[in-house]
Amino acid sequence: MSSLQASFRNHVAWTSDSPLGLEVERAEGAEIVLAGGQRIIDLISGIAVSSIGHANAEVRRAIHEQVDRHLHVMVYGEFVIRPQAEFAELLASALPEPLKVCYFTNSGTEATEGALKLARKHTRRTRMVAFDGSYHGDTLGSLSVTGREVYRKPFEPLVPGVTFLPFNDVEALQEIDDTVACVIAEPIQGEGGIHVPSDEWVKALRVRCSAVGALLIFDEIQTGFGRTGSMFAFEQFGVVPDVVTFAKAMGGGMPLGAFVSSPEVMASLRRDPPLNHVTTFGGHPVSCAAATAALRVLIRDELPKRARLIEATVRSRLRHERIREIRGRGAMLGIELDDSGFAADVVRRCIDNGVLVGWTLHADSLVRVAPPLTIPETTLNAALDRMLSALEAATSHSHP
Ligand code: PMP
Repeated sequence: MSSLQASFRNHVAWTSDSPLGLEVERAEGAEIVLAGGQRIIDLISGIAVSSIGHANAEVRRAIHEQVDRHLHVMVYGEFVIRPQAEFAELLASALPEPLKVCYFTNSGTEATEGALKLARKHTRRTRMVAFDGSYHGDTLGSLSVTGREVYRKPFEPLVPGVTFLPFNDVEALQEIDDTVACVIAEPIQGEGGIHVPSDEWVKALRVRCSAVGALLIFDEIQTGFGRTGSMFAFEQFGVVPDVVTFAKAMGGGMPLGAFVSSPEVMASLRRDPPLNHVTTFGGHPVSCAAATAALRVLIRDELPKRARLIEATVRSRLRHERIREIRGRGAMLGIELDDSGFAADVVRRCIDNGVLVGWTLHADSLVRVAPPLTIPETTLNAALDRMLSALEAATSHSHP
């Protein structure tokens, strides 16, 4: 074992007993170069982060320029920080009314926390509604609205007053009443197994929230920034939420999150008392500079459209007797296999074949595909060939 592997083993806290443990040298475009020189095609993007590809030159330039100007100077919300203000304006211009005011965080789960607190403060109600199979982050508030009991149980008691409803069930929306501060939902569920709800359900959810005065929060942390074939997934359902949360791809590879709402709703965090929701590092200038460069690339190169082409290629090329279904939209796809042990074997064999595919937190029989949206068609095809041979090898291994 190398000394670096030993440091990883002994001093970096693990999140499972079997981390992938690949040693990264560098990453560029849709490829990760490992120590020793092996190149692997990245079909997971650091989970839905590297949408404009690794080491994008414009993002790197923006980072360098900001590093040379200044790093952290003051806690969030006090000073006029140029990259922050510029990115907030650019983001607002990409969002529909009334989503025009942005509160920056460092991560997705902090964006969830902020959105939940905002809803409680604004409505002066306490109940929250979330959906079975949802994932909104791992801090205690976010975990309280995460729809998998097995992940919540070890950390209970959590925030009280959360009701879970079945996802994509129109009838069940009647449970949302005027005691509810907010309803939080992913427009397309990610960790729960890549589930796309019906247009009818999303529209009914919007109507119900408006009728009872509950804020509708869409978690676009995974679906945002072109991943599903439109800049934001909610656009595909013709519905605008009251609050939207972002992270992952937004920072162009740097840590950055946000919750965005209307000027009126967001004003609730200013007073009674003032400073009731603050952060030191939220909206770090280097992260915001990177985010502006990344969003400009996404818009200029029409990467949401590329996501739809990726979907078409994957759906037409990835055919195999052990694939039950391919779910998702754009470059957020879940390949449902007929067995969970088999899926783990396929993921491992893909990696051995030089293709990094993913798993989800809540769905064991799913192989996840979420490549950089910039992946060249030839690279994508090469990766799919390798996936098919991994599927073939895993099949002959499971049926000797
Ligand atoms: N919401 C969704 C939909 C996510 O996919 C994730 C991360 N997988 C989060 C929230 C949490 O984001 P973070 O890991 O940055 O806290």
